[in-house]
Amino acid sequence: TLSDRLSKLVKTMRGQARITESNVQDMLREVRMALLEADVALPVVRDFIARVKDKALGTEVAGSLNPGQALVGIVHKELAATMGEGVSDINLAAQPPAVILMAGLQGAGKTTTTAKLTKHLITKRKKKVLTVSADVYRPAAIEQLKTVTAQAGGEWFPSDPTQKPREIALAALDYAKRHYFDVLLVDTAGRLGIDEALMAEIRELHAALNPVETLFVVDAMQGQDAVNTAKAFKDALPLTGVVLTKLDGDSRGGAALSVRQITGAPIKFAGVSEKIDGLEVFDAERHAGRVLGMGDIVALVEEVQKGVDMDAAQKFADKMKSGGGFDLNDFLAQISQMKKMGGLSSLMDKLPSQLTAKAAGADMDKAERDVRRMEGIINSMTPLERRKPELLKASRKRRIAAGAGVHVQEVNRLLNQFDQMQGMMKKMKGGGLMKMMKRMGG
Ligand code: GDP
Ligand code: MG
Repeated sequence: TLSDRLSKLVKTMRGQARITESNVQDMLREVRMALLEADVALPVVRDFIARVKDKALGTEVAGSLNPGQALVGIVHKELAATMGEGVSDINLAAQPPAVILMAGLQGAGKTTTTAKLTKHLITKRKKKVLTVSADVYRPAAIEQLKTVTAQAGGEWFPSDPTQKPREIALAALDYAKRHYFDVLLVDTAGRLGIDEALMAEIRELHAALNPVETLFVVDAMQGQDAVNTAKAFKDALPLTGVVLTKLDGDSRGGAALSVRQITGAPIKFAGVSEKIDGLEVFDAERHAGRVLGMGDIVALVEEVQKGVDMDAAQKFADKMKSGGGFDLNDFLAQISQMKKMGGLSSLMDKLPSQLTAKAAGADMDKAERDVRRMEGIINSMTPLERRKPELLKASRKRRIAAGAGVHVQEVNRLLNQFDQMQGMMKKMKGGGLMKMMKRMGG
């Protein structure tokens, strides 16, 4: 997965605070591989990588992230933005009956999706729904629609297989009008591959019905081939939306990116099972995570960006620059800053395990307990002691240890850490705040 790949790079990039021309190349190569592995079509990958590179160059890397993680954040955001534009349900803004035309290859899931949408429109939108099959080539297809429409609680219009698809559809439309249906869903025939006769037929249906939605149904497992299919349907029809089916399979769903890019139409729904309830509103954010194959790294990136209190960090940096010393108050502020980021272990939970276990090699529960203990110790000091740690002689240390419920050795340990950090701060003159916070975590 992408996080596996990036975690290898992480080690070589420790301490780099920016995404630059020199480190972005390696990272983008990994992103490219991840997208290809997810079956995003090559030309689509190229476009996408170019856009991400533009956005990433010069990006400042926030807080406890390394450039690899920051790049994943940028990639994810761009991916989600490319695949989605908020939630878009079925558009029914038409003189009833609103006609929905289903297009796609044979086996893509048109008939199944027709039934799923029927159920969705009945239960969620409270509509009266009629379905009709214009698939005159396979009598079984007409029966299939009859069965699944009944399961969905909709009404099915019996097509006369001796008529042409256009005549069947118009007969159904007429019936829908006379019986006050809100929606007419028109299921169509598909071919195993693109062919001109099929395209001509569906174009004719489109012209006769003037549908408010023309949905392109595409199998997520189609991977690279999805591009050609999408292109053919887009050239034949003004598509208004896409339904990506079979996302319950083990594909990484890269077809979503390709199809979205090629058709320009929003991906409205995702098919997630063969059952009639197996339809979800497409969630671009979530799907972006799946395409990249990374746990919740995105949540981590967001949390870090939110958690770092930039004002406090700036004040602190200013204080250091103006020659003010680094005291235990600052030390405490750093600790609470880390806690604001959700606690170490909750942060680390969000990273893919190989990043944390292998790269950091730390016991996070223990690290978090340590942080809490340090906080307890500093809280047991008087404000004066915090400003002037040199006052902390044996008797004061004993009092503080008792107050915090720890051994005196713990207080000494903390003071040692503080000494080290103070030395570091003097060297860095406040510039390495983020790095220091990171060090305290490890
Ligand atoms: P059509 O030829 O485009 O009408 O495709 P169908 O609706 O007949 O579906 C073809 C096959 O894919 C059937 O076996 C469906 O049960 C299955 N199918 C459709 N959508 C999904 C889905 O979202 N998930 C899964 N697992 N199977 C699906
Ligand atoms: Mg069918």
